[in-house]
Formats: sequence, structure tokens, C-alpha cells
Amino acid sequence: MNKSTRSMVIWWVVIAGIVVLGIYQLFNRRDPVYQLATSDFHKYITSDPKVFGGYLTLDEEWIEGRFHENSIENVEARILQNVPRQEWETHLPPNWKGEFRASRDPIDDYNIQAKLDEAGIRYNVEPPSKFPQGLLIFGTTIVPLLIFLGLMIFLSRQMQGSGNRALSFGKSRARLHSETQTKITFEDVAGVDEAKEALAEVIQFLKTPKKFERLGGRIPKGVLLMGPPGTGKTMLAKAVAGEADVPFYSISGSDFVEMFVGVGASRVRDLFELGKKNAPCIIFIDELDAVGRHRGAGIGGGHDEREQTLNQLLVEMQGFEDVSGVILIAATNRPDVLDPALLRPGRFDRQIVVDLPDVRGREAILTVHTKSPYKIADDVDLEILAKATPGFSGADLENMTNEAALLAARSDKPEIDMMCFDEAKDRVIMGPERRSLVISDEERRITAYHEAGHALMLHFVPESDPNYKCTIVPRGRALGVTAMLPLEERHNMSKKRLLAHIIFALGGRVAEEIIFGEQTTGAQNDFEQATSLARRMVTQWGMSHLGPLTFGRRDEQVFLGKELGVHQDYSEETAIAIDKAVHDIVMECYKKARNILETNLEGLKLLADALLERETLVTEEIDEILGPRPQLPSRPIV
Ligand code: ADP
Ligand code: ZN
Repeated sequence: MNKSTRSMVIWWVVIAGIVVLGIYQLFNRRDPVYQLATSDFHKYITSDPKVFGGYLTLDEEWIEGRFHENSIENVEARILQNVPRQEWETHLPPNWKGEFRASRDPIDDYNIQAKLDEAGIRYNVEPPSKFPQGLLIFGTTIVPLLIFLGLMIFLSRQMQGSGNRALSFGKSRARLHSETQTKITFEDVAGVDEAKEALAEVIQFLKTPKKFERLGGRIPKGVLLMGPPGTGKTMLAKAVAGEADVPFYSISGSDFVEMFVGVGASRVRDLFELGKKNAPCIIFIDELDAVGRHRGAGIGGGHDEREQTLNQLLVEMQGFEDVSGVILIAATNRPDVLDPALLRPGRFDRQIVVDLPDVRGREAILTVHTKSPYKIADDVDLEILAKATPGFSGADLENMTNEAALLAARSDKPEIDMMCFDEAKDRVIMGPERRSLVISDEERRITAYHEAGHALMLHFVPESDPNYKCTIVPRGRALGVTAMLPLEERHNMSKKRLLAHIIFALGGRVAEEIIFGEQTTGAQNDFEQATSLARRMVTQWGMSHLGPLTFGRRDEQVFLGKELGVHQDYSEETAIAIDKAVHDIVMECYKKARNILETNLEGLKLLADALLERETLVTEEIDEILGPRPQLPSRPIV
């Protein structure tokens, strides 16, 4: 190359650069945008839909929108809460005006529009392409040319430069967590003692692989953690790495299945390469079900790309034999859909269930999460909180603590007190209070009697759990709430307790009928609960005159607890008998509820009046109004 052509080339490059930059600018003139995690977005929809302002825009990949200007401060505080100050700018763009975008989950959010509708959030759906025609022509002719040019230059530079760094498309995106970064230990993961015990061996092995090899024991290769979301599976895997003091590489199953054909398989290869190079270490695959689904089970005759990835994974695990010191840990909440080949010996043959925590587990998790820097007030009783949060996962509990801290900060309290926790718990369950909701006096009166009716049932039916709180402050979609405090964790319910629960559910409507002589629509959810319990008593638990049989075979989604469908495996006559038995149970309970209310009419009125005046009543206040709670003659048999 002589001198003049070289300077020509340079000029061309400069011009091309300017054009490309200009086009880039043209398409990217927008306010700074916060990249919201998809999971956080879903949390906002369910727990705090009011934070969004205006319309959201949905396209195939992204959800974009703005937080409501009144909420920006709160949201900002929430985002920055756990971030060291020097990192603020990398989390929130400077001059942030509330714009965000979140990527859509291509697998799981097919019903996002229904969720948004339910939460009352408005949205626009973007048509696939909105390019003006002129730009389209420009884009399809000139831009590729420029890109090509740029690529040529880039490549020639790369080849001159050291090594060959271009074209590393398929590289797995496993992130390296060296122990100095995130030292999570078993102490941070609470309430999952069985899982920890099962993993202790893995740690031993990682620490002293020689010992195991010498004795000829078969070394665990793959560990599968199965359990509902938010139960600490990721934490456990990290803790294993932390305890054994080895590097931790993580990748999500959904990272494998994206973009170009063939990338997934090559990512798997890279990932194992990485592991072998850095042994001993832990490779963690989250959402294994995204790659590991039953082969040939995809919609429309299987998903080739995914199958290739899965096959590659199986091949790599097979050839793993001679590599010591690399342990594969995977997590899933859908073990039922996994390809059986993954679970064979030599693959993920160690399976550990990480279930939702029980009451003691919840207390332990709360203890971990309320350590400093949180300032907890003296009146906070973690035992009571643990009892009042059945069904909460570790992540829910963390979320609750976080909410409580925010609430305390918002009301300028020096410490987080029980009131904050209580409110936070209700928020996590049902969304924030809606004090602004306009309710007529008449409606308020009906709600007060309805909730008082529920509360009376809890008070006067000795087999039921006692009252915890009764309120007529609307929250989420409910106009009022009566909550009970389970005295102990129960895995097995007696018939009497089930009946007590149905009576409790019916109490609200019966009170309305007695006082107003009217029926309203507010009791739908109560009836659903009552009916479903009664039906299960008949069809699953053999608690009716139809005898100790089960009726109907059901497909349940493990862990998610949702029934996917029931197959009728009985005759039409039996169906009629079942319906009648269900009806009998509910009507029997209805009569009992009516009886209790009619004999305690005075108490009902006092309680409703107190609710109208004070809005929220707690256990002691209810007991004070209704008198001491009748006790069971003998110890309840549970
Ligand atoms: P999973 O991988 O099972 O979905 P994660 O490990 O990602 O759940 O947990 C999410 C968050 O919930 C964690 O960051 C942690 O703060 C909290 N968490 C969940 N389970 C526990 C637990 N057993 N002990 C302490 N914290 C927990
Ligand atoms: Zn009700």
C-alpha cells in the first residue's frame, strides 16, 4: 500500500464511522432507561401496580414504560437500597426520569396481558415493525454495506493484533463468581437442613478429592436441586462453592436456547471446557427444565435447537468420567418435565428436594434476613411472623423484610417495628392497601359485618385457628380481610378442622344475610374456598358417606400445586352422589354458621361497630369485645 491509498482508506473509514455513528444516534435518541429485571417487573405487577404511569409498550421481546412520577422516588430508593453508593451509576443512569425496560420471558409469560389486565395496567402492543418505508430501504442497502466495511476493517485489525478474539459467538456466558466476590456460606442459607446435609458430602469431595478416589467411591457428578422458585436453590449451590472454596460458574438454562441455531450446543461445550480448565469448581445450571425438557415434547414436533443442546449436555456429562473435581449442580422447579435421560446414573443421579420452609425454617430464614444492617425494634416477634406466613418462600420472606424496611424508612421510624412487618406481609400477599379507593358508607357497613362474621367464626369454633387480624381497609381486590394465626404447622388436617374452615368461610355471607337480609357478590372467594374444601373432603379424603374412596384421577403440577386437569373415572350416578355430598357438607356448615351468629348477635354488632370505628382489630381487641375464646374440652387431635 503506498502512502496516498492508505490515506484514502483512512478517510473512508472516518467517513463510514461518522455515518454509522449518526445513524446510531438517530435510533437511540431517548431518555436514559433503567434495565428492570423481569422478575422484579412481575413483582411490581402483582404487588404494586400503581407504580406504573401511562401506557406500557409490549413488543415481542421487550416491555417498555415509565414509572409514575409520584413513584419514581420510591422505586429509585428500592433499586439503590442494596447497592453500594459507588455503584449507583451503573444501576441507574444519571438524570433518570423513570423510564424502564424489561425483557420478556419467551417461555413463561404468555399470559402477561391477562396479568396486566387484572392489575389494571394499561398497555399498547407494538406491531412487529414500525420502520418508515424510506428508512427501510436505506437500512437494507446502505447500512449492511457499511457494516460489512466496518467488519472487514475490524477483522483485519484483530488478525494483526494478538490472538484471535473475533468470532467468539458461541462462548458460553457463564459468569465467574470468584469466592472473594460472593462468599456465601451454609450459614446464610437457613431452614433447609436436609438439603445441606445431602450437600455436605459434595463439599467434602471438592475439598479432598484424593481421599474419595483412593477409596474408589463413586464420585457424585451431577446434583439436581428440585423445588419451588425462591427456596434458595441458587444460594445453596453458591454456598457449596463458598464452603469448599472453589470457583462458581453459573448459567441459566434459558441462556442456552436463544439466538442462532447451534449456539446452544456450542455453549454447552464451552461451559464444560471452562469447568475442566478451572477444576475443582462448581458449574451451576439454573432452570434446567428450559433445556432439559423431555425430548420430542415440544409444541409442533419438538424443538430442534433445544434437543441438540440437551444431547450435547448428555454427551458432555458422559465424557465427564475422567475429569475429577468438577461438580455440576442444576436447579429446576419442574422435575416432572425433565428428560429421563438426565436423571440416569452418572448424570444428575443425586436429587435433592428443596421445599418451601416450614414454620421453623421460616423463623430461621427471618433470623438470617433481619441481621444488621437492619435495625429491628424490640416488639418484633419472628416466631409470630413465621407462624403468620405459611406458604412463603425464602425469597418472599426476604421481600417482606425489604418492604418492611422501606415502610419504616417512609414513615421516618428509627427502627423496623412489628407494624411495618405486618403491613409488609399483607403487601406481599395481597398488594398494597388501597386507602384511596372510594367506598360508600353502605358498602363499608356491609364489609364490616361481613368481616365481623368471619371473625366470630374463628372465635367461637374451638377447632379453628384463632383470630389474628380483622380489617376493613381494602387491599388488592378484597374490601376487607380476616386472617387467622395457625397455632402450629399442619401437614394433616382433621375433619373437624376442615369443617371449621368451611364454617369460617361462610361466616361472612351469613352475617350479611342476617343483618341486611340481602345477598351481595362479595363472598365469591369465600364460597370457592368452602366448595373446594368440601369437594376434596368427598373426592380425595374419604370424609363423606360415599366412603373411603378417591374419585377422579388428577394431574398435578408438582410443586406449583396447580391442578392441570381431572379425569372422571366414575359413573354419572356417582357424580350426582358426589355433588349431593358436597352440597350436604356445605349446607351443614352453613347452618352451624347461622346458628353461631344468631346466638351471638350482640357480639356481631359490637365487633362490626368497632371495625367501623377503628378499621383494624387485632387478636386482643377481638377477645376483649367477644370475651374469652371457648376452649376445646380436651386436647385437639390433629
Ligand atoms: P431459587 O434459586 O430457589 O429460585 P434463590 O436461591 O435465588 O432461589 O433465592 C432467592 C433469594 O431468596 C435469595 O437471594 C435469598 O435472599 C432468599 N432466600 C431464599 N431461600 C432462602 C433460605 N433458605 N435462607 C435464606 N435466604 C433465602
Ligand atoms: Zn369473606
